[in-house]
Amino acid sequence: MSSERINARIQQWVRPEIRVLNAYHVPPATGMLKLDAMENPYRWPDDMVNAWLEKLRAASINRYPDPQAALVREGLRREMGVSAKHDILLGNGSDEIIQMLAIAVNARGRCIMAPEPAFVMYRMIATLIGLDYLGVPLDANFDLDLDAMLASIKQHQPALIFLALPNNPTGNVFSVDRVRAVIEAAEGLVILDEAYTAFTDADHLSFAEDYDNVLIMRTLSKVGLAGLRLGLLIGDAAWLAEIEKIRLPYNVNVLTQLSAEFALENFQIIRQQTALIRTERERLTFELQGIPDLHVWPSEANFVLVRTPEGRAREIFEFLKQRNILIKCLDGAHPQLRDCLRLTVGEPSDSDQLLVALRDALAGAA
Ligand SMILES: *Cc1c(COP(=O)(O)O)cnc(C)c1O
Repeated sequence: MSSERINARIQQWVRPEIRVLNAYHVPPATGMLKLDAMENPYRWPDDMVNAWLEKLRAASINRYPDPQAALVREGLRREMGVSAKHDILLGNGSDEIIQMLAIAVNARGRCIMAPEPAFVMYRMIATLIGLDYLGVPLDANFDLDLDAMLASIKQHQPALIFLALPNNPTGNVFSVDRVRAVIEAAEGLVILDEAYTAFTDADHLSFAEDYDNVLIMRTLSKVGLAGLRLGLLIGDAAWLAEIEKIRLPYNVNVLTQLSAEFALENFQIIRQQTALIRTERERLTFELQGIPDLHVWPSEANFVLVRTPEGRAREIFEFLKQRNILIKCLDGAHPQLRDCLRLTVGEPSDSDQLLVALRDALAGAA
């Protein structure tokens, strides 16, 4: 088959805004210390792994999954303290929920807004679905720039606004009075993305009761189940009933459902692990603050954002890679992230390795 003819057909049929995109890039990480993607480093204890496998043994893999995933939703309601007033909708990761929301509101001339720097999927999914995307810069402290947000909301009345609390990649929680002001100014839906809820005391579940335009999004990815792909949307049943029409019937598969049920029955283990990560975040932050060449932002998530001396972020990233440590280099991703690196909090021994390598990199060692 001629590749020229395939290319001609692609030019003819694939939408131009898709053709110019690059597919989401996941760097290879085999054999590396993976501190780039906010994964929980801890495994389950052996007896728990065995009990999980026992549960999977009974899986009816020949049958379609429960389209409502009733037991998973029940477990989530219990462990996350979701009010009886609210419903829960599940996605194949919160990424899929963002996509469902974008499909629900998509119409010519509409837009999605988020403060920037933000989680990259908001922009990516807006573009894929064909909605305009508006990033409004955060202020110098990475808090919401309220004047800019309110002006932009007034001018564009976005169909969807995403606020990540804590925000990725900055790690902070926006001030609550500014979050409220944004919600009150918005005519469209405001999604409070609490992907990092396990690592902060900030909790905005009650906002979905206070406001008729707020839904809460959470995920099991950051607490140790990134491989499962399970995100959830919490809020008023009437809102969720509309999004439910977009959800593909079997988007949460049999293995994910059984595994999530099991994890939620054993959520105390996950809470212990996230508590360890929170403690380690404080230690890592303290140690990083002791490195004179670095600027370190306090974090309420399971990662820490640091700024390197001018022009050195990429070189330090590469140096760490040579030492088999993978982090995230954010230099070039956004003007406010110049010279920045994002470090996922791992086990204490992971931090020790990371700190040695960072100090060596900054000292210009080979
Ligand atoms: C990691 C992350 C998510 C999680 O996405 P999943 O698809 O559930 O893995 C959502 N929002 C933010 C801000 C994140 O950083």
